[in-house]
Amino acid sequence: MNSVTGTFLKNESMANHTSWRCGGRAAFFFEPRSLKDLGIFLASFKEKKEIFLVGLGSNLLVRDKGFDGVIISTAKFLNKIQWKGEFSELNVECGVSCAKIARESVKKNMKGLEFFVGIPGTVGGALKMNAGANGKDTWQNIKSVDVISREGYIETLDRNSFNPGYRTIDGKNKWFVKACFHLEKNLNKDGSAKIKEILSQRKVTQPTGSFSCGSVFINPENYFAGKLIEECGLKGVRVGGAIVSEKHANFILNDRGASASDIEKLIELVRNQVRKKTGIKLECEVKIIGKKTNE
Ligand SMILES: Cc1cc2nc3c(=O)[nH]c(=O)nc-3n(C[C@H](O)[C@H](O)[C@H](O)COP(=O)(O)OP(=O)(O)OC[C@H]3O[C@@H](n4cnc5c(N)ncnc54)[C@H](O)[C@@H]3O)c2cc1C
Repeated sequence: MNSVTGTFLKNESMANHTSWRCGGRAAFFFEPRSLKDLGIFLASFKEKKEIFLVGLGSNLLVRDKGFDGVIISTAKFLNKIQWKGEFSELNVECGVSCAKIARESVKKNMKGLEFFVGIPGTVGGALKMNAGANGKDTWQNIKSVDVISREGYIETLDRNSFNPGYRTIDGKNKWFVKACFHLEKNLNKDGSAKIKEILSQRKVTQPTGSFSCGSVFINPENYFAGKLIEECGLKGVRVGGAIVSEKHANFILNDRGASASDIEKLIELVRNQVRKKTGIKLECEVKIIGKKTNE
């Protein structure tokens, strides 16, 4: 019988694993050393607990009362990268950071993944969220993905098995362990210049160096969530240690030791005010998990 080699912890603070740097504890927390290790863990973990995969926690709020299940964190060890076919195919494990594949593809003079440079998550998180920026999104360049079942079996699925939309895909409960990107040679432009341009544009339009989860709400059809929030006069509005950014109204910052509850209350406040003033209901892009205060 194989045994797991990854790190298994109890009662782990999720403030250590989310970009908002706050939130409750995971009853169980597992960091697999490899994909094989992840498979062994899943096959042997028979408890009827909810299992939730996280990457870099850059789109995640864990409520203060914690998550009574298993959090599996991929970001530390599931980070193998492999090139094939004169760099036309990039195979990566789910814990590889988006910024890394942007930079690696530019180094090989391939195009299509530059937009990933400003997205502070993993490839697994990007697949689940269909993360995007600068007119591109994650699934545009996908050839196939590997998913793992609750029992630990891995299978390869073609891009056509999925129906990606704006910050969403169907097949909600799939756990992605690998992605195969198809890339083309960059014949005209300098990829490094594009990366520089994307990063400097972000510096101008977004709060950098603050604890946040990026955009909290998805853009409603024909509107920008940030613009609606700004027009409702909500920039700078605060609940406890959480504040609506003065620079980009769709960002909520943890600027003074906010609790997850401060952030969730501010999300609700913004949603209610925008609905009251414009009639538009904002939907969260950020994923919120864990026990509610009244549970
Ligand atoms: C400063 C800042 C800027 C940002 N800018 C952008 C942007 O321009 N565009 C954009 O789209 N997003 C942006 N984001 C949001 C975030 O970075 C992306 O959504 C990212 O793809 C999340 O990746 P993650 O690894 O952090 O996922 P996590 O936050 O860890 O998880 C998010 C969701 O993905 C799921 N998930 C994670 N790994 C896997 C896996 N292997 N298999 C299945 N499901 C998985 C989780 O269960 C959860 O539901 C920004 C965030 C920040 C903090």
